[in-house]
Amino acid sequence: VNDKKTALVTGANKGIGFAIAEGLGGLGFKVGVGARDDARREEAVERLRAKGIDAFGVALDVTSDESAALAAKTVEETAGRLDVLVNNAGIGGPVDNGVQIPSTLNLDVVRTVLETNVFGVVRVTNAMLPLLRRSETPRIVNLSSNMGSLTLQTGPQMAAYAPSKSMLNSITAQYAREFADTNILVNAACPGYVATDFTGFASSRTPEQGAAIALHLATLPDDGPRGGFFDDNGVVPW
Ligand code: NDP
Repeated sequence: VNDKKTALVTGANKGIGFAIAEGLGGLGFKVGVGARDDARREEAVERLRAKGIDAFGVALDVTSDESAALAAKTVEETAGRLDVLVNNAGIGGPVDNGVQIPSTLNLDVVRTVLETNVFGVVRVTNAMLPLLRRSETPRIVNLSSNMGSLTLQTGPQMAAYAPSKSMLNSITAQYAREFADTNILVNAACPGYVATDFTGFASSRTPEQGAAIALHLATLPDDGPRGGFFDDNGVVPW
């Protein structure tokens, strides 16, 4: 077993996930780069290693039970431990003129988005829990969005994506309830509107800036918050 705290970031081959992996590596973590595509994963691991980060690749498609189970095995065999899980992988789903309107919504789009953004998080979290439970400071961070806030109702109308993040927030609260008497802290993070493929780079906010709240929640002290929803400015309303 290695002495270094170990983290796994899903969807870490690019965007905010890559920046979270880099940030955790810079904080001294050994970092598992979760990614579904072999070439993109290996390239990301190489880029992180070139920056001096102790990165290793973890083949992981969050929509597959088998892949999630294999990923847990990879982490166990490569690092022997897991202290931090960042559920970052996410998709917006197809849009019509930049939006998803409920009255014309294709339910297959909803299913696809939920499969990744919600079921994927439950699947990967549950696959990693046996490892996380062995840690002295287990932390789980779920990348949500203020578009999932029922209070704010912000951003373009995205009738598949936004509810997927509302449900992710709800699942986060459910996990926190289950973990109330344990040392596992689970929280949801909103990275802000960040320049990535996801947004067509239509923002001046960098992935590093977007990663900051996730890094904060991944390294909370034992008395840190549980089951909350946060961005750089503090609590985001449900
Ligand atoms: P990107 O599209 O740049 O990156 C998404 C990552 O998720 C990619 O690595 C992608 O892999 C991966 N991914 C998608 N589906 C799967 C899957 N089935 N299995 C494994 N990996 C998968 O997005 P961002 O970096 O912008 O977003 C990251 C997270 O932040 C998402 O959860 C998003 O909802 C959230 N967010 C982003 C905001 C923004 O402004 N950018 C705002 C609010 C929230 P691949 O390269 O193989 O497609």
